[in-house]
Amino acid sequence: MSTKPIVEGLFAETADGARLLGSRCATCTTPYFPKSPVCHNPACTESKIADAAFGPKGKIWSLAMQDYPPPPPVKFDEPYERYAMAVVDLADGLRVLGRIATDDPESVQCDQDVELIVDVLHHDAEGNDVTTWKFKVC
Ligand SMILES: [Zn+2]
Repeated sequence: MSTKPIVEGLFAETADGARLLGSRCATCTTPYFPKSPVCHNPACTESKIADAAFGPKGKIWSLAMQDYPPPPPVKFDEPYERYAMAVVDLADGLRVLGRIATDDPESVQCDQDVELIVDVLHHDAEGNDVTTWKFKVC
């Protein structure tokens, strides 16, 4: 058994914590995740895209409870356990959706400080850990 990301190249664990791997326009500073080959900001004068890594610190902007199993192709371990999904404003300018890693999703609230982590999303048919990015409350 091993660990593998749900999608290669979307996130990474560094010595300083987890990061989302995206891009940013050097002209207008607009962040993109996943990576974008061009800048989509209509006010931008020149698209200059470079790779960028985002995270790990952020704050919960909005929050919802996933009370029922999402439809395919979403995968999860049985039995299904409800979880909190949040829209998080990362300190470096990216607003991104992510699951909150907690045993007590009812305790999660807007405006809480969170940190990006890489955590197990589910286990595949061979028993491997399939990972994704999540947020934990600081
Ligand atoms: Zn731009």
